[in-house]
Amino acid sequence: MGAMAAAVQACRERMTTACAEAGRPAECARLLAVGKTFPAGAIREAHAAGLTAFGESYLQEALEKLDALADLPLEWHFIGPLQSNKTRPVAERFAWVHGVEREKIARRLSEQRPSALPPLNVCVQVNVSGEAGKHGVAPDHALDLARLVARLPNLRLRGFMTIPEADSEVARARFSRLRGLLEQARAEGLAVDTLSMGMSADLEAAILEGSTMVRIGSALFGARPHPIEEQGISA
Ligand SMILES: *Cc1c(COP(=O)(O)O)cnc(C)c1O
Repeated sequence: MGAMAAAVQACRERMTTACAEAGRPAECARLLAVGKTFPAGAIREAHAAGLTAFGESYLQEALEKLDALADLPLEWHFIGPLQSNKTRPVAERFAWVHGVEREKIARRLSEQRPSALPPLNVCVQVNVSGEAGKHGVAPDHALDLARLVARLPNLRLRGFMTIPEADSEVARARFSRLRGLLEQARAEGLAVDTLSMGMSADLEAAILEGSTMVRIGSALFGARPHPIEEQGISA
């Protein structure tokens, strides 16, 4: 088995174990492979190892990879911070956006989504810890933004996304809070089904708290060549 196939298998095993521990079905969370900073060839290998959904954080880099991999049937997720003047290529070329944190971004994505495509799947990013300088809407405003997204014609509200602190105990509490928001949204009739939470270091905690999609970079592709701040770099 090649290194990539082995990494995919190890990651799936971690996920299956966590789903079992949580008392959830074996395939309880989707695996979104995060290939940022890695070349298109690495994503091609991951696809050969069975992965189909890929996340990217930096728009320019992402667009180059979309072009280079246009022959493959991949589902692309934009997971990075998004500036309002850069929404068009995301609206036109991605299937999902996980980092919607402002009304203006949501409106532009809906306006710019080509009508020939299915609605763009959206997760509202929540700054669950409330730390200043972190991306995401404050928890108290998350439902307002979710309701707005749900009303926009070319967007489909799927749920919520968060990037918690590195500390695993703290992370688990943040994941739990995000699940609470999903439950609130459901209780008021919003058709949400997605909790985008959990990365290489904390996927187990996220799955225990109800994650439906983990975003995995280094556990699949290896350590990133240049450690990149997960927050604060604009797309
Ligand atoms: C880089 C990144 C990931 C993947 O992180 P790893 O720790 O390498 O698994 C997940 N989500 C977002 C938003 C990221 O920017």
